[in-house]
Amino acid sequence: MTDQTLIILGASGDLTARLLLPGLGALLKTGQVPGLSLIGAAVDDGWDDARWRQRVADSAGVDLETRWIRADVTRADDLRTLVAAAAGPPAVFFALPPAVTARACEALLDVDLPEGTRLVLEKPFGSSRESAADLNRLLTRLVPEERIHRVDHFLGKSTVLNILGLRFANRIFEPLLNNTHVASVEIVFDESLALENRAGYYDHAGALADMIQSHLLQILGVLAMEAPISLDAGEFRDRKADVLRATRLWTTDPATSSLRARYTAGSISGKTLLSYAEEPGVDPARRTETLAELVLAVDTWRWSGVPFRLRSGKAIGSSRKEAVITFKKPPRVPDGLTGCDQPDRLRIGFGPDALALDFNINGPGDPFELDPVSLEASFGAGELPPYGEVLRGVFEDDPTLSIRADVAEQCWRIVEPVTSAWRAGEVPLLEYPAGSSGPSDSLLGD
Ligand code: NDP
Repeated sequence: MTDQTLIILGASGDLTARLLLPGLGALLKTGQVPGLSLIGAAVDDGWDDARWRQRVADSAGVDLETRWIRADVTRADDLRTLVAAAAGPPAVFFALPPAVTARACEALLDVDLPEGTRLVLEKPFGSSRESAADLNRLLTRLVPEERIHRVDHFLGKSTVLNILGLRFANRIFEPLLNNTHVASVEIVFDESLALENRAGYYDHAGALADMIQSHLLQILGVLAMEAPISLDAGEFRDRKADVLRATRLWTTDPATSSLRARYTAGSISGKTLLSYAEEPGVDPARRTETLAELVLAVDTWRWSGVPFRLRSGKAIGSSRKEAVITFKKPPRVPDGLTGCDQPDRLRIGFGPDALALDFNINGPGDPFELDPVSLEASFGAGELPPYGEVLRGVFEDDPTLSIRADVAEQCWRIVEPVTSAWRAGEVPLLEYPAGSSGPSDSLLGD
């Protein structure tokens, strides 16, 4: 591999410290990116080479050739300086607030980008279908589509790739995964974390854009796709795009197919939490939701008639991160067998990464009485943390795990009826205490 440079725009921020640098460190430790140098940039005067090197040492845990360049990335002159400082083709990572990313891309139109430049963009990609399309048009004026990496670190997770192995590398589950046998699918990402001082970003995004429009729809795409011929970028992304093109709200009425809520004061693990509306930096009048639920239809031959329920919430007492496939009841249980009426379920956990198959069998004691059992397996951890996998894809020019331009727009198309209805006040904003299991109403099944 030739020399190359990673330029992080927004290198003093939370993403860089908490996820990007640790991922980079793990990747570098595998020895897969020799000759990499790193440039950190942000606009705050409080940063210099020494402080940045310390940040890299603390967060990445590797000894790496790096320097700090102060830059206002909305200015073409500053961007030109950054690109000129790169050894080899740069990978430019936009670890910036979304509005600043759009302005930095516009400024890049006035910069000569070296052959081989890659642009790496964070979610949320745009803020609507129209703005995502505008950003896509702008980006393709800068570099070819195959060098644009729209990051979704959930897709970097080995767990999600494990779904493909589970579905397509055996004959056991796949014949059952269709509307003949499946009653419903849930994809849930409830976390105990609250706002964590991220009001500047989150209060403009909310749970729908932060989690469902991005991560959870990507998981749906992998869970519901037809078998790709291979795992190369073209095949894999085509099959995922097929599913998302076919996905729409379950009914035409967002009031029955969506739910939104915001946490009030409460406590989690003994820690007292303010209500979301009182968190520093939050504008309560924005009525930003901290929990969102959607019911979607995937209008394909395989999935027609099966509801896909997506939910994500913050400040939930017990975190739950899993996809659950609930099967229909058996056509007939022989007379004389009694007991458990719970449906069979296949559960794929996203942390801890695990698989469970829940079903009813004749249990101990009375053999005519059914009992629920669970067969469980661990997927095991991947070689790299999610951002390590994301960066490996960037440095190897492999866009398999990144979001293609049309898919980024489709994901906004899917949620747009909901965002419009919420904005118009057609769906009430419910409340739930921090530390609870969410609002008492829910669109999830039992
Ligand atoms: P932060 O607010 O913590 O950091 C933003 C960074 O952008 C700061 O370094 C800031 O530098 C810099 N910046 C802002 N304006 C300019 C400018 N004009 N020129 C140069 N630098 C500028 O945000 P996050 O790190 O949390 O998020 C960054 C992106 O990553 C967002 O798109 C977010 O959605 C996404 N993301 C974040 C995750 C997270 O857990 N944090 C997870 C997944 C995605 P300065 O202080 O100098 O202004």
